[in-house]
Amino acid sequence: MSDEVVIGLEVHVQITSLRTKLFCGCSSNYRDRPPNTNVCPVCLGLPGVLPVLNEKAIEKAVAVALALNSKISEKIVFVRKHYFYPDLPKNYQISQYDRYGLVPVATGGRVVIDVGGLSKTVRIRRINIEEDTGRIVYPEKTVLGSKYALIDYNRAGVALLEIVTEPDFRSPREARIFLEKLASILEHLDVADTSLEGAMRADANISIGGRARVEIKNIGSPRDLEKALSYEITRQLNIVKSGGTIERETRHWIKERGMTVPSRAKELEGEYRYFPDPDLPPIPISKELIERVASSLPELPDSRAKRIAKEYGIGDYMASVLVLNKRLCDHFEHTARTCGNPKLISSILVNEFLRWLDEADIPLSTGILRLSADRLCKLVQYFEKGIVSIKLLKEYVRLAVLEDKDPDDLVRQGITTIGEEEELERIVTEVFEENPKAVSDALRDPKAINFLVGQVMRKTKGRADPKIVNEIIRKRLVEYGSK
Ligand code: ZN
Ligand code: MN
Repeated sequence: MSDEVVIGLEVHVQITSLRTKLFCGCSSNYRDRPPNTNVCPVCLGLPGVLPVLNEKAIEKAVAVALALNSKISEKIVFVRKHYFYPDLPKNYQISQYDRYGLVPVATGGRVVIDVGGLSKTVRIRRINIEEDTGRIVYPEKTVLGSKYALIDYNRAGVALLEIVTEPDFRSPREARIFLEKLASILEHLDVADTSLEGAMRADANISIGGRARVEIKNIGSPRDLEKALSYEITRQLNIVKSGGTIERETRHWIKERGMTVPSRAKELEGEYRYFPDPDLPPIPISKELIERVASSLPELPDSRAKRIAKEYGIGDYMASVLVLNKRLCDHFEHTARTCGNPKLISSILVNEFLRWLDEADIPLSTGILRLSADRLCKLVQYFEKGIVSIKLLKEYVRLAVLEDKDPDDLVRQGITTIGEEEELERIVTEVFEENPKAVSDALRDPKAINFLVGQVMRKTKGRADPKIVNEIIRKRLVEYGSK
């Protein structure tokens, strides 16, 4: 049996740009509100109430469908999806479905992702509009450790988009890049602020070598998606290696513990008892609406990548990484316009900045505050003036991101290449005195300089910047030659 990894995703995104919930006037912003204060009879599912659709949700869904190249249905049909769980006040969720003659808001579609310079097409299966559930809060953080559970319905009824892919991913990395790109598309469209806690949640199903499919729920970020899937691959392969069988099951990702654990048995499809919601008649999606939304679509990541690659001369790869995050890309463009040197700025952001954020799990917004345009510009200037070497520049980026250090303070503390340079001048003098033959060789043959550079590097135990050493030696040789 091969061990080919097959992964598919089901992503839930809150339409955070809407002011109110999907079927009532309660605020869509439930965060930081005291429990059960952002509720009304409709989202509590009390008897006798009727849902009224927030029609802006349709416009947002149509925009997403257009951006993902999906086929938009002629009408919106809402269904009731039944299951019994404390966070679901009506005991059914108003959702959409793509079987039994029912239609979701859109079907099909594709997103092209860049995986290490190669493009890959990910197929979209469907896009649904549905309502979010409430939240179950465990006083001791875990189910088993708690004597009781608390229910907060503030989130119940918030508008969600459910975006389902075909099982087109072959590695955790690919799944992560897709989720980053999807988030970026939603940010560019002004559908969702995916950086808000709980605004974007992914469920992943994974099967290895054609064995049973395991579903992992409750994944809150692209970074966690990659981690959860990598964990799951190791777990499953270990079971296989020791002669066990993979069970078809649903598991939960526990971020704090970095592992997946078994969770409640999931309903079988037939148990959901899907049927059209009699409270919500089908609503046509008119050509006019689609055209209006299409004509006002903003610049999306793919066209933005092409534009910035050309406009700033930073190459396709850098551009493709920057557009995976709208705020990062905004930060790049703003900084590059303010202080120039887009190549250096893109390389700092992609190769250094992102790496430290990922390593220390720092949110991008915090990272941008710490490595602000102002600080980034100062670093670029210090580098251009030769006050800091590329090695020090990278160190400053690390200190800014992890410890919120200001480059100015570090330079004031004397941690600069100039400090090193005086030391280097002294070492060069030593090397010249110790190797008179090499010096006269170098005066005749520029290639012989390398020997002298090598001697300086040896004396500094490789800590010096070879570019600067080279410059000092060349300058010194010119002085010697003119004597
Ligand atoms: Zn309400
Ligand atoms: Mn759903």
